[in-house]
Amino acid sequence: MEELEMLYQEMGISPAVYARGEKVLESLKDRFASIDKVAEYNQAKVINAMQKNRVSAACFAATTGYGYDDLGRDNLERVYADVFHTEAALVRPQITCGTHALTVALSANLLPGDELLSPVGMPYDTLQEVIGIRESPCSLAEYGVTYRQVDLLPDGGFDYPAIREAINEKTKLITIQRSKGYATRPTFSVQQIGELIAFCKGVKPDVLVMVDNCYGEFVETMEPSDVGADMTVGSLIKNPGGGLAPIGGYICGTARCVSRCAFRLSAPGLGQEVGANLGLMPALYQGFFLAPTVVAGAEKGAIFAANLYEPLGFRCVPGAAESRHDIIQAVELGSEEGMIAFCKGIQAAAPVDAHATPMPWDMPGYNDKVIMAAGAFVQGSSIELSADGPIRPPYAVYFQGGLTWFHAKLGILMSLQKMVDAGLVALG
Ligand SMILES: *Cc1c(COP(=O)(O)O)cnc(C)c1O
Repeated sequence: MEELEMLYQEMGISPAVYARGEKVLESLKDRFASIDKVAEYNQAKVINAMQKNRVSAACFAATTGYGYDDLGRDNLERVYADVFHTEAALVRPQITCGTHALTVALSANLLPGDELLSPVGMPYDTLQEVIGIRESPCSLAEYGVTYRQVDLLPDGGFDYPAIREAINEKTKLITIQRSKGYATRPTFSVQQIGELIAFCKGVKPDVLVMVDNCYGEFVETMEPSDVGADMTVGSLIKNPGGGLAPIGGYICGTARCVSRCAFRLSAPGLGQEVGANLGLMPALYQGFFLAPTVVAGAEKGAIFAANLYEPLGFRCVPGAAESRHDIIQAVELGSEEGMIAFCKGIQAAAPVDAHATPMPWDMPGYNDKVIMAAGAFVQGSSIELSADGPIRPPYAVYFQGGLTWFHAKLGILMSLQKMVDAGLVALG
C-alpha cells in the first residue's frame, strides 16, 4: 500500500473508497487541465493589475478613524477595477457580506417610483427581504420601489417575450443572479448573461443592469462586467477573497453607479473618501492574488464530487459532464440520513472543528430544518470547504469551496466513506 493511501486509511478512508476516487480522477485529467488554463489566465490578469497599479508595501499599512487618503484601500479598488475592466470599484471591509453589497448597489441606484426587474426568476433567499418580496422593515418596497419578476422557461432558458413585456417606463434596474444559489436551475455562463444584457438594453437602452456574481468570480476568463453589466457585485468571503479576506464585499462598475454606491454606503457628500482599512489590506490583496487558484481547486472538487456520486445513482446539479459557471455542486442524496452522512464526512475532513458533528437544526428564517457542515478559518466562509441544505425532498446537499484541491478531495472521499459506513452506498 502506498504512503498516501496508508495515511488516508489512518484518517478513516477505506481502501475501497480511495480506489473508487482514484478511478474517477483518471477520467478527469483533461477537465482539470482546462481549469488550470483558466486559472493561469486569471492569475496573470490579477498580477498584471497589481503591477500596473504599483502595489507596494505602503499599500499594506493600517489606517484608522476616518481613513482619509487611504492609499492601500484606494489602490485595491483600482486593482479590482482593472481586473473587472470597469471604470470604478468599491471594495470595503465595511461591506459586511454579499447581501449587504447587493443591498448597497440596489438602494443606491433605485429611487421611489422606480421598478426593479428580475428576468431570471426568484432571487437568492436573503434578497427577498431586501426587495420586499417577503415583508421587512427598510425593504426597497417600503421606500416605494416596485418589483417585477419573469421566471425562467421550464428548460432553464430566458423567456425573452415575457421579459420584453415586463420592461416598462418605470424599469430602472435589472438584476441578474449568475449562480443558482439554493435553486435547481442551471447557473448562467458569462456569455448567456451577456446575451440577456444585450437584449434588455436593446429594449431599453438606459436601463441599468446589476449582476449578482456570488460564487462565479474567476470560474471563467470573463466576468459579467466584460459583457455589459453596469454593476458586478459579490462577497469577499467567497471567491475573490481567496480564503484570506476575513470580511468584505465589492461592487465593480461604471463610475456613476459606483459613486452612488459609495454615497449610500457611507453618506451623501462623503462617498468613497471615508472608511478606514483597519489593517485588513494585506489579507484583501493577498487573498485576491490567491483567488484564481483557490477557485480552480474548488471547481475541481465540485467536478470530482459530481463524477463520484452520479454513477452511484445520485442526481447531481450540474451533472458530471456539464460545463461549470460557478463553484457550487448540488448532490441529491434522497434521504435525511444521506444528508447527515455526507455532511459528517465534510466536517470530519476539516482542519478546524473536525471533532464536531453536524446535525439538522431549526435555523431562523427557514421553513425546514437545515444541516450545515463547515470547519473554516473564517466563520461562515463558503470559499472554504462547506456543505449545507434544507432537510426536504429531494434532500440535496449544496457543496462548495475548498481552499486547496487536496482538501476538497479529502472531504469528498470522507463524505462517501460516511455514506458507505451508514449503509447508504455499496461499492461494488
Ligand atoms: C451567498 C450569496 C449571496 C449573499 O451572500 P451573503 O454573503 O451570505 O450575504 C447572494 N447571492 C448569491 C447567489 C449567493 O450565493
